[in-house]
Amino acid sequence: MLPLSRPDLLLSDAFLAGRPHAGAERFAVTNPATGALLAEVTDCTPEDAAQAIEAATQAQRDWARQTGKARAAILRRWHDLVIAHADDLATILTAEMGKPLAEAKGEILYGAGYIEFYAEEAKRLYGETLPGHQSDKRLIVLRQPVGVVGAITPWNFPNAMIARKAAPALAAGCAIVVKPAAETPLSSLALALLAQEAGLPDGLLSVLPSTWAASIGQEFCDNPRMRKISFTGSTNVGRILMRQGAAQIKKLSLELGGNAPFIVFDDADLDAAVEGCLLSKFRNAGQTCVCTNRIYVQDAVHDAFVAKLAAAVAALPVGDGFAPGTAIGPLISPAAVEKVRDHVSDATAKGATLVTGGAAHALGGTYFQPTVLSGVTAEMAVAREETFGPLAPVFRFQTVDEVLAAANDTDFGLASYVYTGSLSRSWQVMEGLEYGMVGVNTGLISTELAPFGGIKQSGTGREGGRQGIEDYLELKYCCLSV
Ligand code: NAP
Repeated sequence: MLPLSRPDLLLSDAFLAGRPHAGAERFAVTNPATGALLAEVTDCTPEDAAQAIEAATQAQRDWARQTGKARAAILRRWHDLVIAHADDLATILTAEMGKPLAEAKGEILYGAGYIEFYAEEAKRLYGETLPGHQSDKRLIVLRQPVGVVGAITPWNFPNAMIARKAAPALAAGCAIVVKPAAETPLSSLALALLAQEAGLPDGLLSVLPSTWAASIGQEFCDNPRMRKISFTGSTNVGRILMRQGAAQIKKLSLELGGNAPFIVFDDADLDAAVEGCLLSKFRNAGQTCVCTNRIYVQDAVHDAFVAKLAAAVAALPVGDGFAPGTAIGPLISPAAVEKVRDHVSDATAKGATLVTGGAAHALGGTYFQPTVLSGVTAEMAVAREETFGPLAPVFRFQTVDEVLAAANDTDFGLASYVYTGSLSRSWQVMEGLEYGMVGVNTGLISTELAPFGGIKQSGTGREGGRQGIEDYLELKYCCLSV
């Protein structure tokens, strides 16, 4: 039994059009740290998805007609309820996902930031008037909601990935049907209940836990009432949705995988760079899309950086997310552990040096030792693939041109990081990196205030900032002859 002040926030029925939906089948949600059963949740079917889309279509018409101020008031109340129940939401999140409780609480507050931000933006969906092309013409551009939106989200941020989509969608006047990751549906169900308590009308936010991801994705793509899909997850599934959505020219926002470089120049503050690297690489045990995947260190400071990084990494406390002081929790699944192990063995077989870690943790289960490799080269799998685990591979470089070419030599373009003491070099590298986001002398860049997103095969669309609501709005140009 989880220690919750509101035990009713732990829902096991789907949340379909404002009502609990028990369904015919259920599936188990377990704690990755212990394997303990948390809940048997409804296993929603594509028919349930069709029903949720129908209810959303009905509800969205009225919602779009409400004033932005009225929508803002409900979103604001939702934000306040999330903050009021942040401890319970964090407990549910750590239990189903494994991340340390303090990080889980950070995620709840981060997610709430999007709800607050878009509550404010709901009042500012300004259109435009344009100078006419003839003296009797008046030209107006309206910004109107896209309609019903489908959201498909991953397990690594079970709360924030929903908030980042639902808040701008609802603020814009859309309705949203969410298919959360099968591993972590409980955080999204709790969020939906709090939205209802905030006064959100039934049907505008449905949450459908399911093990039928592919068929639900297909229903989202095939159902003409579903006007847009916002997906966060792997590039591979993003590609499938793009292909499936082609028949109806479905609008898509895709937040996909990354392969973030972290560049340390010889004029950088090395202690700050190590600290930034720990945050960027080892947050959520390395399981974030913006996690550093490749660390490039300039020759003159390479050995000193590796020594400092290895000492800090070896000291990271590994354990259950609920244990005080834990910095690294379990990985989400045995398959995730296998991927880290494969990347370590591929690199060492091709000549990399194991500096610290490198094996399963003594705690067993899906715990893996925080690991540092040096002597890593472009031929190794870690250079091309997202590890999504606690493995820090260090490459050596000499010149700016060399490191920019290496950093950009990937199909991905989500987050990137650079540490340098030089302003001109910061600009040079910021402009030269082919990424949607660049952190300069910081390893933490995510905020609701800025447009988060990637280029190349890391996706399309942005979440956060004033730009983030554009994904949920259509432009309508009206020409009046007066
Ligand atoms: P995933 O396998 O792509 O799963 C993401 C979601 O898609 C889950 O809800 C999953 O359902 C669902 N899904 C799986 N197959 C599908 C299909 N054929 N059609 C429709 N939906 C389908 O990704 P993951 O392994 O959970 O998450 C890790 C990936 O997400 C990493 O690549 C990471 O970089 C990326 N990510 C990106 C961002 C970003 O903002 N760019 C943020 C976080 C994570 P099931 O759970 O049932 O499989």
